[in-house]
Amino acid sequence: MIPFNRPYLAGNEIKYIKQAIKSGHISGNGQFTQKCQSFFENKYGFKKCLMTTSCTDALEMAGVLLDIQEGDEIIIPSYTFVSVPNAFVLKGATIRFVDSESDHPNMDISKIEALINSKTKAIIAFHYAGIALDMNKLVGIANKHHIYVIEDVAHSIDSYYQNKALGSFGHFACFSFHETKNIQAGEGGMLAINDEKFIDRAETIWEKGTNRAAFTRGEVEKYEWIDKGASYLPNELTAAYLFAQLEKLEFIQNKRLEIWNYYFEKLNKLCDSANVGFPIIPSYGTNNAHIFYMVLNSEKKRDGLISHLQSNNILGIFHYLALHNSPYYRKNNSCNELRNAESFEKTLIRLPFYIGLKNKDLNNVVKSVINYF
Ligand SMILES: *Cc1c(COP(=O)(O)O)cnc(C)c1O
Repeated sequence: MIPFNRPYLAGNEIKYIKQAIKSGHISGNGQFTQKCQSFFENKYGFKKCLMTTSCTDALEMAGVLLDIQEGDEIIIPSYTFVSVPNAFVLKGATIRFVDSESDHPNMDISKIEALINSKTKAIIAFHYAGIALDMNKLVGIANKHHIYVIEDVAHSIDSYYQNKALGSFGHFACFSFHETKNIQAGEGGMLAINDEKFIDRAETIWEKGTNRAAFTRGEVEKYEWIDKGASYLPNELTAAYLFAQLEKLEFIQNKRLEIWNYYFEKLNKLCDSANVGFPIIPSYGTNNAHIFYMVLNSEKKRDGLISHLQSNNILGIFHYLALHNSPYYRKNNSCNELRNAESFEKTLIRLPFYIGLKNKDLNNVVKSVINYF
């Protein structure tokens, strides 16, 4: 079977894990955690980065930092991962879902303003497949209404909007290093903070509501409970593994782009001949080759392709189930039809994508897809 994903090993993971163990510091916020955080701060200009155990946790931290509570409203695309609303529902927030664009899984920014009211606290800017939303437009709307922007950059490491890294537009940005992402540590995440006024409090929330980080730096004499918090920081072994991946970022991104370009070159003729949709990369954005997807013209056709690939020992898979139709949301809320999100739920397929996918296998996937049509 050609799997959908296989985590890539960059080479130095075990060496750095050994170093962490030998150093005698394997709990959080050690040398490797700081190296990973500095990597992002220096390369992308995020004001402050804090490693977390997952992107889900980073989203929750953002919720704590914004004091999200019962009655607050958060605007979220329907076509995204369940962690996103969950992080805010846990705090009692009400979720307002936005539809996708007709030709792209990204949310339709023109539909946001109609959902804003005096209770709206934040918009989640999720860049599907690492392809940027129009951030000038989105930030413009948020500023006009004094609403926070939280970027979900789980797909978007090293991707750009008008030459500025995704993750630098929101007050916060939440990264994932889950094993299915471009850069991975099995499970892992990071909160990037771009609004300086949140930095001190973020460090406190990160370390169980204590001023331990400041204490470790010698800035305060006692280490005390000073705010709400939880344990969001990963251990050093995770950070050591992650740092080995970050060192190879450029190589990883280039390799992934090769695979992406190969698929596109071989398959994009299906666009006219079989009415298949392919990712659209807007002129303002870049492609970080997180996902290669195709959009078919019906659910039957898409499910047929999944079965066809399976019979050829290839795992092609669908993606998100539109969240406004999920049993949990339906039980507590109502939402109008969001046609485009529902349509991507039924018609989008992702092809196997990982470094180490052999040319022979890539070729097989392509042949199999073409045979189907
Ligand atoms: C993977 C993913 C997450 C969750 O990441 P974890 O690190 O597994 O918590 C959140 N949002 C999106 C869009 C994702 O793809």
